[in-house]
Amino acid sequence: MPFTNRLHQLESKLQVKSPIVLSNCRVFLDFDNTMTTSDVLDDVIRRFSINDQWMTLEKAWHEEKIGTKECLEGQLRNVRVTKNALHKFLTKVELDPHFHHLLALLVREGIKPVILSDNFSYIIEWILEHHGIRDLKVYGNTLRFYREHIIPSFPYDNPFCLTCAHCKKIHLTKDKTENKLIVYVGDGRSDFCPARVSDIVFAKDNLLRFMTREELPCIAYKDLGDVHHYFQEALPHARKNH
Ligand SMILES: [Mg+2]
Repeated sequence: MPFTNRLHQLESKLQVKSPIVLSNCRVFLDFDNTMTTSDVLDDVIRRFSINDQWMTLEKAWHEEKIGTKECLEGQLRNVRVTKNALHKFLTKVELDPHFHHLLALLVREGIKPVILSDNFSYIIEWILEHHGIRDLKVYGNTLRFYREHIIPSFPYDNPFCLTCAHCKKIHLTKDKTENKLIVYVGDGRSDFCPARVSDIVFAKDNLLRFMTREELPCIAYKDLGDVHHYFQEALPHARKNH
């Protein structure tokens, strides 16, 4: 279905009286598998684990027997990596090929997207810096290095919900008074809750399956090129020549 038709469907579902304009949106992006072409944190754990225990924890997480925080704490206990080795590994991470394009469009329209991730801010900021991207607000888990150990902490943990290590929802709801539409782009389990409280959701993979199962409106996308295309086509004030 063309993007414009999807938008009209969405506008009627949201009972929006005037066309959705980009300047009236706040845009939030997940990081792993949304802004990147791989799950960076999974790759770091797989590469630098000293044994296979991460697999047992991963299986328990997939079966929802443990939450993300317990899974990550357990997995990182068996990771050994120096800062330099980690940096070297992170140079190989690829951003979605359309990310720069999308970011340029948003910034031109006065929007700075916010990154919400169950990965670590340190890792995300290092990758962004490596790709020449600065000044984006990143909310994630935090880490410190101790010799070859990574010690995690979880400043946005919700003690009443064990699902995610980082409760992304709190960043979306805290500024609701702004009366702007919330646009959320994601792919995985940590995106389920924020997607529920967003006005426009771009979903793929697990998030798309979740939204479909729950009969929640969303726009399916395969990469950020689709999101860029949506803004270009559907939002009347987006400049078409970029
Ligand atoms: Mg993700």
